[in-house]
Amino acid sequence: MRSLLKLYRNLKPFFLLIVGAVVLTYLQVMANLELPTLMSNIVDKGIITGDIAYIWKEGGYMLLIAGAGGVCAVLASLMAARTAIGLGKTVRNQIFTHVENFSLHEFDKFGASTLLTRTTNDIVQIQTSTVWFLTMIENALFTSVGAAILAYAADPQLTRILYVALPLVVVVIVVVTSLVVPLFRLVQVEIDKITRVVRENITGIRVVRAFNRIDHEKARFERANADVTTTYIKVNRIMAVLMPLMMMLLNVVIVAILWFGSARVDTGNLSLGSMLAFMQYALQIMVALLMLTVMFIQLPRSAAASDRVVAVLETRPEIADAAETRQIEAIRGHVAFRDVTFSYDGGEEPALSNITFEANPGETTAIIGSTGSGKSTLVSLIPRFYDVDSGKVLVDGVDVRELAQEDLRHRIGFVPQKAVLFTGTVADNIRYGNREATDVDVAQAATVAQAAEFIESMPDGYATMLSEGGLNLSGGQKQRLAMARALVRRPEIYIFDDSFSALDFTTDAKLRTALRGETRDATVIIVAQRVGSIMNADRIIVLDEGRVAGIGTHKELMDTCDVYREIVYSQLSEEELA
Ligand code: ADP
Ligand code: MG
Repeated sequence: MRSLLKLYRNLKPFFLLIVGAVVLTYLQVMANLELPTLMSNIVDKGIITGDIAYIWKEGGYMLLIAGAGGVCAVLASLMAARTAIGLGKTVRNQIFTHVENFSLHEFDKFGASTLLTRTTNDIVQIQTSTVWFLTMIENALFTSVGAAILAYAADPQLTRILYVALPLVVVVIVVVTSLVVPLFRLVQVEIDKITRVVRENITGIRVVRAFNRIDHEKARFERANADVTTTYIKVNRIMAVLMPLMMMLLNVVIVAILWFGSARVDTGNLSLGSMLAFMQYALQIMVALLMLTVMFIQLPRSAAASDRVVAVLETRPEIADAAETRQIEAIRGHVAFRDVTFSYDGGEEPALSNITFEANPGETTAIIGSTGSGKSTLVSLIPRFYDVDSGKVLVDGVDVRELAQEDLRHRIGFVPQKAVLFTGTVADNIRYGNREATDVDVAQAATVAQAAEFIESMPDGYATMLSEGGLNLSGGQKQRLAMARALVRRPEIYIFDDSFSALDFTTDAKLRTALRGETRDATVIIVAQRVGSIMNADRIIVLDEGRVAGIGTHKELMDTCDVYREIVYSQLSEEELA
């Protein structure tokens, strides 16, 4: 509930629309409340006395009021809808902007599927309830209060019927709400699950096909789907009981009014018109309560939805700029790790322990080690994707936690292990690294990354559209584009996380030669699987289960480091070694 109110703070710009919706709803209710009284007059003073002129006059007046009420209702809904949609837009924007600032830590924590549902389905829930708040709730409140007063005015005696009927209605409402609300919470969790299954299947479609797991995946989806269906059916079963029950109560009330009312009409204590008016007011009250029931059911849904939205909005990114950031004085790109230990959330063993090394400008520092040894983790600490548990990561002598993230990342050309491309042209994707890059810069970067050749052979060259995520490219082509994107930035620090593994040996060699010329003064950090790719590096760091097993040149390590020798012997033949 509190989170819903928090989101409603965003309603400020819609103040006028909200006031409009409330006022118009009020007018509509007033018109509705006027009608039974008019009708009662027509019955008592027109029909009974046979005054046709009076009937025409009052009847016309009734039509006019009913019409005006209708117009008010339409306008009120319109304003409410505008407000709600505006709110949805604002909140969606907020989530997106906020999530963009998340560090990888928060992405790990939430997971992509739930972030997707939270920006879509949950916001729709909030929108729905906002429309209802702005129209139905007040409508119900104004109506029930107004109709109660007018019913009492029509005949205080008959009001006793309502004393009995209304508490019964309230009991029904409370019982139904308490049964339905927990089920709706469940629905939301289950929709998350469906999203997850669908997402995994779409992104992993090749694997699903290749491993013939279509039936398995179908079953998985059917299970998730069946869960939602079952819960919805339960909800609807309960709701199905609600409506007839309320209708029955309503009809019992009508019969009671006619029964006791007609006796009073007989004895002359009540006019026929007043009895009919009373009946109308009683109906209006009960319908209003029914509207409130629907609200009571929607409200917890929206409250749950807004809890989930606010949970995202209130998650402070674990990695934020320090209150006072420092500037690097002489920017050179020197990187140093001082006794760094780091573990992922939920990881029992640290992914990295006591890592100390330096990477100098103008040199190539290579990192090698078996899969899972912590290579990607190590390089992800340099752009501060995660914060260390203890120790320090220094760039040009300054702790990365003291630098503004933007400044820090501006110095780094990062090529992630899994190349990520965006929808757009080839040139757009390369220029992602540096918005100001000219066409010449882009082509130059592509040439160094050994991507120019295949780009130029594509139908539209640099203007070729990449489909979503670059699906129309091979793994090696994607990696080379990702490299061009880093190169066009001309940063002080280059980080290549396993960027050479998808390349054939010839391209690998050509690329390394071209890189050497391009990155002459920069600090180059290369993560590699193949010894051949890094043998000539100035410094090789051998990682083993998150620890440094050795640091040195190829020659030094061959003499001193068992882990390194093992890697080398498993990859190179005798001749290559010699
Ligand atoms: P490498 O790049 O050397 O293959 P990684 O650095 O990717 O190895 O992984 C090192 C260890 O950290 C592995 O045991 C892996 O399971 C774990 N790990 C990697 N990423 C995450 C993550 N986002 N959350 C939790 N554990 C992770
Ligand atoms: Mg890796």
